[in-house]
Amino acid sequence: MSRVFNWQLGREMDYPYEDARPAKQIAWVFDLNKCIACQTCSVACKMTWSSGRGQEYMFWNNVETKPYGGYPKAWDLTVLEKIGPGSWKDGVYEGKTIFEAADQRNEKMVGHRPGDEEWNHPNIGEDVIAGGEMPQGAHIVDETHPLWFFYMPRICNHCTHPACLAACPRRAIYKREEDGIVLIDQSRCRGYRECVKGCPYGKSLFRANHEVSEKCIGCYPKIEKGKQTQCVENCIGKIRGQGFVTDPKQGKPNPDNPIDFLVHVRKVALPLYPQFGTGPNVYYIPPIHTPTDFLEQMFGGGVQHAIDTYRNVPQDETLAGLLQLFGSSPEIMETFAVKKKVALGYNRDGKKVAAVPITEPPQLRKSFDRKRDAYRLDVT
Ligand code: SF4
Ligand code: SF4
Repeated sequence: MSRVFNWQLGREMDYPYEDARPAKQIAWVFDLNKCIACQTCSVACKMTWSSGRGQEYMFWNNVETKPYGGYPKAWDLTVLEKIGPGSWKDGVYEGKTIFEAADQRNEKMVGHRPGDEEWNHPNIGEDVIAGGEMPQGAHIVDETHPLWFFYMPRICNHCTHPACLAACPRRAIYKREEDGIVLIDQSRCRGYRECVKGCPYGKSLFRANHEVSEKCIGCYPKIEKGKQTQCVENCIGKIRGQGFVTDPKQGKPNPDNPIDFLVHVRKVALPLYPQFGTGPNVYYIPPIHTPTDFLEQMFGGGVQHAIDTYRNVPQDETLAGLLQLFGSSPEIMETFAVKKKVALGYNRDGKKVAAVPITEPPQLRKSFDRKRDAYRLDVT
């Protein structure tokens, strides 16, 4: 058991393993205001990594609809019930993490191993709205309307304090020093499924025909080459940014680093269920049309600030430019700048790999195209 500082909780906590932080920590930012649930990310991941026998039910990347969707079913409610209620005060979490809620005599963390029934419905709750039904003839008149849902893409969070790693009796799981990616050593794994039980996000999965557990590998062969992961590169909605995040315990966040800027400077991107205590490294820009109290139990006490910051994007040229860079290069942009209303992204060698204008000049086309002998409906 070690005592570790979890910056997402604003305090120290107990962690049943060594506090081993990597030299660099891989991280993602997903803008939930832009996801359209096309599932291209899910397919890109599955075709690359989990299309074999025994992997049929696996979606290392899945996209669920909140509030009713979840894969495995109700994964988050199950954990929330086990850790009990908590609250945020001045940026500090007052409640129990999955490690602190455990009865230390019997378990390292409160966990749950989903059964077959919970894995049977990857798209349960899809497109189901919260707040009742839209009466016939009604329409949305402003930004405060009672009906809502949003799409929630999820991958392994490559946590700073991984529960899967702490749970493994074989020490088969490790966190890479060079980039913080969490991997399962397949030669050491004996399929005890303690990681499946321990991961509060339902992101470690058992492959029955090989009798081992498997999980998202962060597309590490691409990361090693400075390329973005499959789910990021293929995202149709351009909702995903990827790079490295600074742990405030280890260094000062760099405002030229896109992930640091979103997470630490503007604080517009928040960890998912930080109260679990694992220090997840996928950060979400919360959807601005969703009730704040619902979002606070998902993303913690910084939700209102994140929403206000996002609404202010038209007045915030740096943030607007950075969001435009999402999806603009297959390479990881480790630094960025906004100059003369153009957002510029640079790779790990400092080479410019993207240049995107914040506002594109309007292009007007003639409604009748002589060459094609056709009329256009869309002329701008
Ligand atoms: S590809 Fe992008 S937009 Fe489509 S479901 Fe995945 S995250 Fe959402
Ligand atoms: S999300 Fe789960 S599987 Fe991934 S590192 Fe965290 S605890 Fe492990």
